[in-house]
Amino acid sequence: MFPLALEFEEFALPHAHAGALAKRARLIILSAGGTIAMAAEAVGEAAGLKLGAASLVAAVPQIADIAEIDARDLLAKPSASLLLADIAAIARAAMEAAATVDGVVITHGTDTLEETGFALSLLAQVETPIVLTAAMRRADQPGADGSANLLAACRVAVSPESRGKGVLIVIDDEIHAAPLIRKAHSFRPHAFSSLPFGPLGYVAEDRVRFALAPARRPPPLAYGEGAPVVPILEAGPGLEPQTIEMLAPGAIDGLVLSLPGAGHVAAEAAPALEKLSARMPVVFASRTGAGETLRASYAYPGGEIDLIRRGLIPANGLDARKARIALQLALSNRAGRDEISALFTRF
Ligand code: ASP
Repeated sequence: MFPLALEFEEFALPHAHAGALAKRARLIILSAGGTIAMAAEAVGEAAGLKLGAASLVAAVPQIADIAEIDARDLLAKPSASLLLADIAAIARAAMEAAATVDGVVITHGTDTLEETGFALSLLAQVETPIVLTAAMRRADQPGADGSANLLAACRVAVSPESRGKGVLIVIDDEIHAAPLIRKAHSFRPHAFSSLPFGPLGYVAEDRVRFALAPARRPPPLAYGEGAPVVPILEAGPGLEPQTIEMLAPGAIDGLVLSLPGAGHVAAEAAPALEKLSARMPVVFASRTGAGETLRASYAYPGGEIDLIRRGLIPANGLDARKARIALQLALSNRAGRDEISALFTRF
């Protein structure tokens, strides 16, 4: 009898929720530029940011079957031109939208999608799904992917399973955790990767399938003010000390190093880095694309133990691009060196 009772309970569940299911989901779609919003007027003419949120939605009639849509234009920029304040404005708009609807979709450029996605995962921590999407091909190009990506993003944004999973990025039928994704190809449609972990799930026809959930929530941060100047310097073998000496304090507010291996630099450059780090935060990340900076393995000059001893801050699991966003946000709040060090231990 027991299995029968169980079956009955499972069977009964959808009926218990029938009322809730009948209620139409509500979505806000915010457009922030990028290729998904670009079209060429005519062959040979340069592409421009022409498509607002309403026309993006109008191009995908199936979206109307998923939810009631409120489409809003937020920004119209190629994503490499987004400023920290723009990213903070996207986060603020997403938070405000999330308070009133069942899900939020943001259309964005692919080039710096990983930075905005990561920033939102710090700035916009809500249970309501916030889903970013983008396109590798313009609406007027053969094989345009914007409509399919927008439709899949809307499906994910209204799915109750997406709640509480942090900011998500839906592209090419895959669902990625925003803190893990990176653009890994410059032009092909399948351009995004969350290696070494992989996507959290996928969208098959109208079904949203999660296989994984993020195990950790990134630390919550707020945007303060201003636009801290934080360049990224990638080092290879034999980084010249002169390169570091050129970085004048006053011109920059902080530095992120993208270093070989687990965070190693030429011995000759280490003293110049120590000098710089006495005047501003210098964070070092691994340039490998996976893993994290080590802390206790290599003590030779320029090894990570030496760099930490000289005052440099390890980025842990963040790559240089994401470390730059975290450092800029911290500096926008005038965080001091100890607070910044403590912040990076949480990544
Ligand atoms: N240049 C575009 C951007 O805004 C590229 C894209 O969206 O795919 O990032």
